[in-house]
Amino acid sequence: MSIQLTFHGAAGRVTGSLHLLEAAGARVALDAGLSQGPRAESNELNRALPFAPRRLDAIILSHAHIDHAGRLPLMVRHGFHGPIYSTPATRDLCAVMLPDAAHIQEKDAEFLARRGKAGPLSEPLYTMRDALGVQDLIVGVPYRRIQYVRKNLSFEYTDAGHILGSASVDVRINEGQGPHRLVFSGDIGRTDLPIIRDPDPPSGVVDTLIIESTYADTDHQPVDDAERRLGEVVRTVAARGGKVLIPAFALGRIQEVVYSLHALFRRGEIPQIPIYVDSPLGVNATEVFRMHPEVFDRREQLVTQIDKIFDFPLVRYIHDVSDSKALNTLAGPAIIIAASGMAESGRILHHLANHIGDHRNLVLFVGFQAENTLGRRIQEGADPVKIFGDLLPRRAEVVTISGYSAHADRGGLRAWVRKVGGPIRRAFVVHGEAGPALRMAQILQEEGVGEVIVPKHGESFAL
Ligand SMILES: [Zn+2]
Repeated sequence: MSIQLTFHGAAGRVTGSLHLLEAAGARVALDAGLSQGPRAESNELNRALPFAPRRLDAIILSHAHIDHAGRLPLMVRHGFHGPIYSTPATRDLCAVMLPDAAHIQEKDAEFLARRGKAGPLSEPLYTMRDALGVQDLIVGVPYRRIQYVRKNLSFEYTDAGHILGSASVDVRINEGQGPHRLVFSGDIGRTDLPIIRDPDPPSGVVDTLIIESTYADTDHQPVDDAERRLGEVVRTVAARGGKVLIPAFALGRIQEVVYSLHALFRRGEIPQIPIYVDSPLGVNATEVFRMHPEVFDRREQLVTQIDKIFDFPLVRYIHDVSDSKALNTLAGPAIIIAASGMAESGRILHHLANHIGDHRNLVLFVGFQAENTLGRRIQEGADPVKIFGDLLPRRAEVVTISGYSAHADRGGLRAWVRKVGGPIRRAFVVHGEAGPALRMAQILQEEGVGEVIVPKHGESFAL
């Protein structure tokens, strides 16, 4: 029996992570992510399942980001009923992320139907029921514990240091020509990120490595610098009586920013102005963080000194729409953090519409802004800006802090490969656009990897 590996997603692109491993008599998917990007293209990619989910034996999930976990409900909808393995924190994050994704699918379908565009491509990809069905199948597997999928196929998670619960997957296959070790990096994080631990790659000889390459051609600003600059921004805007508006991803970025503000507050480096976290999904995700202190980074002062790292006198978490609307008439300086991270949807749109016309205010970007998003347009200085169909003059200042990225940059990726140690016999580069993927291939060659391949979508290899 041979071992077969097929790349059904995140090959030549960043989203839609899905790799099929056939070995030891089992068919196992590594991740089941949603493709994101231009609507029509990603819609088709997501609907076209490359294999029958009911013939799949198990899914091993790296982390809870939607581009890695967002097709789990689709798998369940089409008959998958095997175990879905994830770390306990990822399991709990999926419990809030996937119903939210299903809600968006249902709303999108309603919207298209109202516009008379009903048809097979406008049916929701999956529903709330499918998302809840995922939860029944998830098996929580802590880091560094061997989990058997089959007698001759087992795996172990190590901390990927990317978001809460994120993992690299260390797979051991025993059949035919002897043992084979396959490592799937998942998304690789950064050293010194707030709250979570540093990446801890599997080490030793690796037969097959599947590695991400998102930022293989980029250098990030240092993490420490990000917190210092956040403090500067808050002090400046508070002094002129303005508001800081922060569009932020509900999972990860909101918690990191709140944590940084908490640290700044405790050191007396920001004035005492109210901080509002106005995102139902963000509030729910923060609740999951509170449930999993066991995976926090114990080297960080704030983590070891206090129990409640997300709660301090200045911060208020907002769930209800009425409380969110009350912020429209808020007087005086404040910080408002809301999703979505690229200002494409969600409550941040209302806050931008209300506050972008005041020169005392400031829009602060702390995450990646993709092309063709409102966030990117504001970041690039658009004036006026179109929000909810209205052209609004932009008077607010715009600042970007790039140091909060949750992905390793080129130095971080190289350091991760070195920590694996090796030798690494063969590597497949995934989860990157063409330029970064080629740069990652070059890094792997420089680090002495035997054979390096950048697979195409749908390409299959006998290992
Ligand atoms: Zn991720």
